[in-house]
Amino acid sequence: MSDTAWQGGSSPDPIVEAMGRLTTSIFGPDRATRARTAAILLCALMYAVCCSAAYHAASIGLMRPFAPTLLTWTSMPAYAVFYGLVRCGWSRRFSDPTLMIPQIIFALLAIAFAYTAVGPDDRGVVLVLLALVMVFGMYTHTPKHSVIIGVAAMLLLGAAMGVLSSLEPDYYPPALELIRFELMMGTLPALIYSAYQIASWRNRMAEQRRALREALTQVQQLATRDALTGLYNRRHMQERLEHSIKRYERYGEKFTVALIDLDHFKRVNDVHGHRVGDQALQAFASAASMVLRETDCLGRWGGEEFLFLLPNTGAQKAHVALERLREALARCSASTSVPTLRVTFSAGIAVHDLPLTLNRTLERADQALYAAKQGGRNRCEIAPPPQTDAITLVREGP
Ligand code: GH3
Ligand code: MG
Ligand code: MG
Repeated sequence: MSDTAWQGGSSPDPIVEAMGRLTTSIFGPDRATRARTAAILLCALMYAVCCSAAYHAASIGLMRPFAPTLLTWTSMPAYAVFYGLVRCGWSRRFSDPTLMIPQIIFALLAIAFAYTAVGPDDRGVVLVLLALVMVFGMYTHTPKHSVIIGVAAMLLLGAAMGVLSSLEPDYYPPALELIRFELMMGTLPALIYSAYQIASWRNRMAEQRRALREALTQVQQLATRDALTGLYNRRHMQERLEHSIKRYERYGEKFTVALIDLDHFKRVNDVHGHRVGDQALQAFASAASMVLRETDCLGRWGGEEFLFLLPNTGAQKAHVALERLREALARCSASTSVPTLRVTFSAGIAVHDLPLTLNRTLERADQALYAAKQGGRNRCEIAPPPQTDAITLVREGP
């Protein structure tokens, strides 16, 4: 569904509209921002649940009394800041727009603090949260970050265990802390390795997706474009023409075709060589691409012939467009090797605004092109409207 789909429709449901507006104001205007803010709000909710569990633990003496308040008054403001930075789009300037790294640093510090604040018998439970942090990061971190975060977690917790058991051995019994440290060392490296593997796979898959996208673009390019001029090829032009015929049949949208043929092109080849001839074809294509409108479509029909398709346009406008092209072509050199070389073209224009076959319209354009050549070249001719008896024939056909 598009980002603005809720706005669509002629008479939108006011409740749906209000919900859409609320969603946008909470999560953000675009899909990427929404995914990021949703992840942050989910984390904030998890912190709220953990803080509530901490208050509960403190109330029954399992945690130091000041700890829940400290946890709440650091995690909630921190997440309000993360949410604000992501929601307003400020974080988009970084390669980590979800601010995952600052979030992970905060989480590791919070876990380390919670570990030190929980009573001697139960603090091992806090270590489970480390696994949660590692798993959460598996789908967003680079392989390097996964390892750094895992090692930082081990060092931080290991240092806390070592320092506190020597400073306050009653509350942090060295034997118990040693067992917990061993358990952590026995499990966390496996998690770090898994996180590294998953992040590497993700990287490889992203790289493959990118290569596939590039290959697809290349294949599309090869299938639709002419190799020499970069213009659309004949097959693609044929498809566009058939599409225009369908639009004409359904919506009555007329279109105009113009067959363009470079004048005395054989002479260009004979005098200057085939390579200069090729350059002249390319010069024609680049002049046309600069001058013609994006909605109009120009393709190489074969050799030094081109087909120009103008949707929803009449003959006069097509004529004006071709004159613009003629002027542009007169100004630019047709070859870098022969700077003074200019090429001209003749064109035959035919409008498709009666229920005739496509071939008939192309034939009329070809006849007009022939008339332009006969008339002295370097000009455009517009085909006269088709005979009405021909229309009757087509209408009455099987
Ligand atoms: P007219 O004004 O009557 O169109 O004369 P013309 O010389 O352009 O017509 P003709 O059909 O006799 O010659 C077309 C020439 O276009 C012959 C052919 O060698 C040349 N040609 C066709 N395709 C290419 C191409 O890809 N590269 C080059 N260099 N020449 C091409
Ligand atoms: Mg020709
Ligand atoms: Mg020619």
